[in-house]
Amino acid sequence: MRLIFLGAPGVGKGTQAKKIASKFNIPHVSTGDILRAEIKKGSILGKKAAEFVHSGKLVPDEIILEMIKEQFKTDRFKSGFLMDGFPRTLEQAEKFSKLLKELDIKIDRVINIVVDEEEIVKRLTNRLVCGECKKIFSLSEVNKNGSFLCDVCGSELSKRKDDSEEVIKHRIEVYKSQTQPLVEFYSKKKLLENIDGHGTEDEIFERILARL
Ligand code: ADP
Ligand code: ZN
Repeated sequence: MRLIFLGAPGVGKGTQAKKIASKFNIPHVSTGDILRAEIKKGSILGKKAAEFVHSGKLVPDEIILEMIKEQFKTDRFKSGFLMDGFPRTLEQAEKFSKLLKELDIKIDRVINIVVDEEEIVKRLTNRLVCGECKKIFSLSEVNKNGSFLCDVCGSELSKRKDDSEEVIKHRIEVYKSQTQPLVEFYSKKKLLENIDGHGTEDEIFERILARL
């Protein structure tokens, strides 16, 4: 199974991507997670990416494409993969198509999760993330449980640096101008599946499964 997950920030893309990847036992490639890990390590890539990520700007295409090419050098993706957060610009999508063609790999489906904007802003301002396993929580469920620790691995939860209201607004604008065009791009290739992203985690999971 070879999948691409599309969707604005806050639509639940990362959460569903993890669940689907583990269900089908395929590698989950989140460019956002890779970048944040590199920033934490203080690597050369991380140093280059930090200011973009923290201000909600896209990391330049060359850097991202280099990162992806590096990943595809290994055999890891032979059995399938789930791309989460990549491609994010038309340039990335075109170059990725070219790379896959060279490797004789075909995408099976592009899953586009759709949620209205008001709900997105609400979700992102309330989002907490586990520092270790990256599981996503909402402030309201944390308050209800009275614990700021992850229920999977016990690590501390924190707010992502780019989840402040101003940066969130900017990320949504960037999504609209740079990433939205990919919906059309993959729709023309007859790969697109639109998924309603409102409802519970399990409901959305079932909706996606029904289209695979
Ligand atoms: P979200 O979808 O919630 O915005 P991500 O974790 O996917 O979060 O991405 C966080 C940030 O990482 C982006 O705002 C951007 O700065 C950077 N990033 C991730 N993927 C890409 C990409 N494919 N191209 C450019 N920048 C990226
Ligand atoms: Zn955890």
